Amino acid sequence: MAERHTTSVKPRPGFPARLGPNPAPKPLTPVLRHGTPHAPAGLGMDSSAVRRSMVTKLAQQGIADQQVLSAMGSVERHRFVDSALVNQAYEDTSLPIGLGQTISKPGVVSRMLELLRQGTAGRLGRVLEIGTGCGYQAAVLSHLCTEVYSIERLRGLHDKARDNLRHLRLANVHLLFGDGMAGYARGAPYAGIIAAAGGEAIPACWLEQLAVGGRLVAPVAAGAHSPGRQALMVVDKTAQGFRHTVMEAVHFVPLKSGVA
Ligand code: SAH
Repeated sequence: MAERHTTSVKPRPGFPARLGPNPAPKPLTPVLRHGTPHAPAGLGMDSSAVRRSMVTKLAQQGIADQQVLSAMGSVERHRFVDSALVNQAYEDTSLPIGLGQTISKPGVVSRMLELLRQGTAGRLGRVLEIGTGCGYQAAVLSHLCTEVYSIERLRGLHDKARDNLRHLRLANVHLLFGDGMAGYARGAPYAGIIAAAGGEAIPACWLEQLAVGGRLVAPVAAGAHSPGRQALMVVDKTAQGFRHTVMEAVHFVPLKSGVA
């Protein structure tokens, strides 16, 4: 039986499938797309300075997890957005990625990853991401956990993510096409589940597929009294049951069933 708390989230004891000691995240080698000898116009040849500045701002906003900051500093967000949006890639803003979907703003991505990792010294074990989108968050996750299973319901975005990630050769990222409302039982149990789309409630199968000691971070509808509003929900699966913690208000694209 699930118990509900609204207290602040504390570090979790005994998180499963850790790797220790903490391996330094591997910096991603910048890969130029289609053999182009230039970085996308507007960012010059080296985007690392602007990424460092983004990371500094994330730290000023309160992100304290060095591994999250380091992963955010490694992944070239500008490679995941349309060339017309490259100049905005390191601003703290969500951006369209096609088919009516958006890449979350860096502040929200890092906040959710920090919550997912809270209390974990090394890498997380297997993580399920619902909503691959353009593949950006999956790339960041690849630095923070042993395996990433990322599922997307829109074929066009699943293909786009595969294209975006191909050159990075991230052996621990597994892209899946399907309805993430059903989770992905074959990869379960997961040390972490993270959703990039918000539904009315958290599907029961996500909680089933979470390992004991694991954590889920997902946007959910705030409730009947605030229609259209979403809040970030953290759910910890313990040997005694589930602990739900409601965090701040967020605004995510809707979680939809079926594939398209
Ligand atoms: N993490 C992504 C954010 C994508 S936006 C990134 O870094 O780009 C959220 C995504 O969730 C959208 O692409 C949307 O199509 C997808 N989505 C919504 N409902 C889904 C479902 N049931 N299963 C899988 N993906 C879903």
